[in-house]
Amino acid sequence: MKCNLAVISGDGIGPEIVAQAKRVLDAIGEVYGHMFCYTEVLMGGCSIDVHGVPLTEEAILTAQAADAVLMGSIGGNTATSPWYQLPPEKRPEAGLLKIRKSLGLFANLRPAYLYEELKHACPLKEELANQGFDMMIMRELTGGLYFGERKTYTENGVTLAYDTLTYSENEIRRIAKRGFEIARKRRKKVTSVDKANVLDSSRLWRKVVEEVAKDYQDVELEHMLVDNCAMQLVKDPSQFDVILTENMFGDILSDEASMITGSIGMLPSASLNETKFGLYEPSGGSAPDIAGKNIANPIATILSAAMMLRYTFDLDKEADAVERAVKLVLKKGYRTGDIMSEGKIQVGTKEMGDKIVEEIKNQK
Ligand code: NAD
Repeated sequence: MKCNLAVISGDGIGPEIVAQAKRVLDAIGEVYGHMFCYTEVLMGGCSIDVHGVPLTEEAILTAQAADAVLMGSIGGNTATSPWYQLPPEKRPEAGLLKIRKSLGLFANLRPAYLYEELKHACPLKEELANQGFDMMIMRELTGGLYFGERKTYTENGVTLAYDTLTYSENEIRRIAKRGFEIARKRRKKVTSVDKANVLDSSRLWRKVVEEVAKDYQDVELEHMLVDNCAMQLVKDPSQFDVILTENMFGDILSDEASMITGSIGMLPSASLNETKFGLYEPSGGSAPDIAGKNIANPIATILSAAMMLRYTFDLDKEADAVERAVKLVLKKGYRTGDIMSEGKIQVGTKEMGDKIVEEIKNQK
């Protein structure tokens, strides 16, 4: 298969971690007979330096013409970088919001997986960490409270503010379908999270999810209230497979789930549109504090590339190979500084890439 990728290396550690993900994809290409073609796209601070704006129209067209986008991270030190002297719409992060909108990315996927070898970093009780967990949080990204009408105003000398949470049945249906499809590639269980005991938007959410579920009889559906879900994540995270939820609940729950894995440098993410197209990036930022030192952990970006293989190109076997290689490298004791522990072997960004590439080639 020929896969055309737009690559946004971005700022800070972005170029270092993306370089390793590309090497891993090339190794997959070599072993399984695929070809990955890369077109570099400037976004964020590096685009401001060249073009004066965080994202050009030409860059958007290049991303739209690709099969998928592989991204590192954008942005600099918000306290010291001159990029943050610019008005908000010209800052690096404005590029991110613009590209998500231009590509119609409405579904955000964030896996939370506890690696056997990194269990000691899990802040939960030992018996829970020993059970492990492997879940996917699927968050609606373009509707709900963050995009509704809002206002701050004064009435009779008192200041008031409101935000509105609106969802249409179509918005709910398209993300629910995606959720069930993703569950089919996993353990076939969807937990739909809402606040249907209070909110009308949640009652509509629940109704539409139930309608969609009729087309996915092989997938188990359960409903859970968001407050209960927040508790269950720390009480028994192994019960979850796919958590399907709206924008704000997903924002909060996905951060909670990432915390219990104990390691930000290990967490990939994907944002998908209505087709197979997606933008794949690590959950962390550009880490300016460690940029250019060959110490950043490239695994989250490498696992984001694995998600791309699975969800955009339907190359499940190849995605499994990447994930297996990461596990083997961890099992052999190799660690970047952020996940280092006593008795393990510390390696740099590039060396971690070398080890993962080596494992992929060994599987040949
Ligand atoms: P950050 O995620 O960049 O860094 C937080 C901490 O985690 C730092 O100590 C950093 O060294 C560490 N870290 C992050 N990724 C790592 C990795 N792969 N390996 C090892 N350690 C890692 O968050 P921040 O410091 O709040 O933000 C820095 C910049 O990144 C800001 O400009 C912010 O706007 C931007 N940002 C970009 C994205 C994105 O591109 N999607 C997301 C979040 C933040």
